[in-house]
Amino acid sequence: MTESLRFLELASAPDVSFWARLAELKLNEYKLSEDPIPVVGHYRASANNFASPLILTSASFDLETTYENQIRMEGEVVLLNTLESMKTFERKKAGLSCIERIDEDVGSGAWVEASSKLNRFVVVCFADLKQYTFYYWVCVPAVKAASPMISKTVEEGAGQDVCTACYEYYKGTKGRTPFWIVEGGGGDTPFRCRGIGEYDRCEKKEEVIVAFVDPSDATGSPGWPLRNFLWFVASSLWGAKTVRVLCLKEEKLGRFSTTSSVLHTVDVPPESGEDKGKTIAAVGWEHNAKGGLGPRSVNLASTLDPKQRASAAMDLNLKLMRWRALPELQVDRLSKSKCLLLGAGTLGCAVSRILQGWGCRKITFVDSGKVAFSNPVRQSLFEFTDCLEGGKPKAQAAADALKKIFPDADSSGVQLTIPMPGHPVKEGSKLHRQTMETVSSLDALVKDHDIVFLLTDTRESRWLPTLLSLAHGKLAVSVALGFDTFLVMRHGCLAQGEKRLGCYFCNDVAAPLNSTKNRTLDQQCTVVRPGLASIASALAVELVSSILQHPMKGAASDEDESILGGVPHSIRGFLDSFEQLKLSSPAFGNCVGCSERVLASYADEKGREAFLTRVFNEPEYLEELTGLTELKRKAQEALEGMEIESDEDDTFGDGGGGGDDDDDFQIL
Ligand SMILES: [Zn+2]
Repeated sequence: MTESLRFLELASAPDVSFWARLAELKLNEYKLSEDPIPVVGHYRASANNFASPLILTSASFDLETTYENQIRMEGEVVLLNTLESMKTFERKKAGLSCIERIDEDVGSGAWVEASSKLNRFVVVCFADLKQYTFYYWVCVPAVKAASPMISKTVEEGAGQDVCTACYEYYKGTKGRTPFWIVEGGGGDTPFRCRGIGEYDRCEKKEEVIVAFVDPSDATGSPGWPLRNFLWFVASSLWGAKTVRVLCLKEEKLGRFSTTSSVLHTVDVPPESGEDKGKTIAAVGWEHNAKGGLGPRSVNLASTLDPKQRASAAMDLNLKLMRWRALPELQVDRLSKSKCLLLGAGTLGCAVSRILQGWGCRKITFVDSGKVAFSNPVRQSLFEFTDCLEGGKPKAQAAADALKKIFPDADSSGVQLTIPMPGHPVKEGSKLHRQTMETVSSLDALVKDHDIVFLLTDTRESRWLPTLLSLAHGKLAVSVALGFDTFLVMRHGCLAQGEKRLGCYFCNDVAAPLNSTKNRTLDQQCTVVRPGLASIASALAVELVSSILQHPMKGAASDEDESILGGVPHSIRGFLDSFEQLKLSSPAFGNCVGCSERVLASYADEKGREAFLTRVFNEPEYLEELTGLTELKRKAQEALEGMEIESDEDDTFGDGGGGGDDDDDFQIL
């Protein structure tokens, strides 16, 4: 049998971590430098009929990386700045410069200690970091001899003795020795392995076998790294005419295979040695996926950037919910909603975290306060350091915290005091002008979002947001806490027409007043059971998630159901008895928050400022406007007519906290 010996290409296998590390180094260290970057790759003996590739990982940039049972190969990465320069890159020159380096190592004898130096590789690449696409071309250069190597014989299989002897030798070489010498094995002489540099000391050179850790899985074609050995060493250095090479394959980890290892007898053309010093050609540029000579590309957009990975992981969680539990669930409905959270306290923090759990990215906090020392233990987005130096603005601190949790969060904070009825603003004053500007800002914020969460700690601060949400047709959800009770309510919307559900103020018969006046310390501070906010916040977001799955969304009747279940109007919870009630109430025609007259007064752009000024300065004006005053008068008359005892009149009084709802829910 005489035919030219063919070698199996050593395919490159750069993994995701290799590109991730390269991208990171490019951004932070190499920048525009195109200087070659030293790296190491690894390959191993083929195992179970699988050829080993040249493996490149993030560890390839650590030049000391070695692995048990893997051959280390030195190489370099040439990272070009443009795709264009990749096309004009001088490949031949790069291949030859590798060959020259090998030649130097052979000349200096460095190859004797590490015969892995007989092969090198070069990766030329361009990283499109915007698209996270890498174009790359790998070469493991081999000398192209003037005449081919001739395969004389191929013997499949190897004895157990020689395999064992080889492995014993190999495991001590730390991956730097893919080639060594095997002697003996004849008669009673056991096999003996020696370093590749001891060839000259071998007595019977014709009996010498060169052991080779072979990445090729093909019986007739040894792996690519053998090619340089035959040229540089067997032919040039030893001047051998015929070489026997035992191509060792793995059976399993820590053992060479007696069945798939192959003994090749190769005729080495003598003239190849004489080529030394002449112009020689290097071959070994890898074929691309189409089988042609050309670069490959890999797009890692979805896997490379850790932020994108976080994002993909979050979406996957939601998708899993679809795959497993609810195939019809439209996760985008909440995850793509823009949420405005009025209040970045206990409720705001808790609501935002659950929104994130639903994949929600666009979250805007509005709050006027700063993080206080009492906050972090209850308000999950803050920590001790946020309280220092007077405290960070809560809205911004909360937005920043969401980004820390999930870098893809599109969160922002707006420091703003919501204008409130009963908080006077003198006409013509600076405060008046600022207040009107704030109204405009808040109006724009509501308009820009899809869902408005009313999470502030006073009743009157919910008035303007209630009105704005209704005016702009946004889904509004109120959460309010008492000491051990809570209310979660979705406000009705105009699209419900006659059957409009009520708002936060609909059950009240008093306009909101300044409820912070004359409060004792326990009334000013958060005096609620610590678990309450989490319970109520979770219910609020889950209510929204259910509403959004309904075809009518916010206009859904409270008696309907979505694929997630009920869409109740309001939920009241009582922590003392651990009970919850679903309640429903229609919009109240005389409501100070959502009745036609209030809405019309705000909608009238010319009269808006005057209307708001009166509301802020004279809260009872809302009662007059909506007819509440008249209603109360009639009620009073009716009660008097019924001769109800006088102390019951207080039911309709507006003293104290300003309304019965307020008694339960004025404090966060
Ligand atoms: Zn109302």
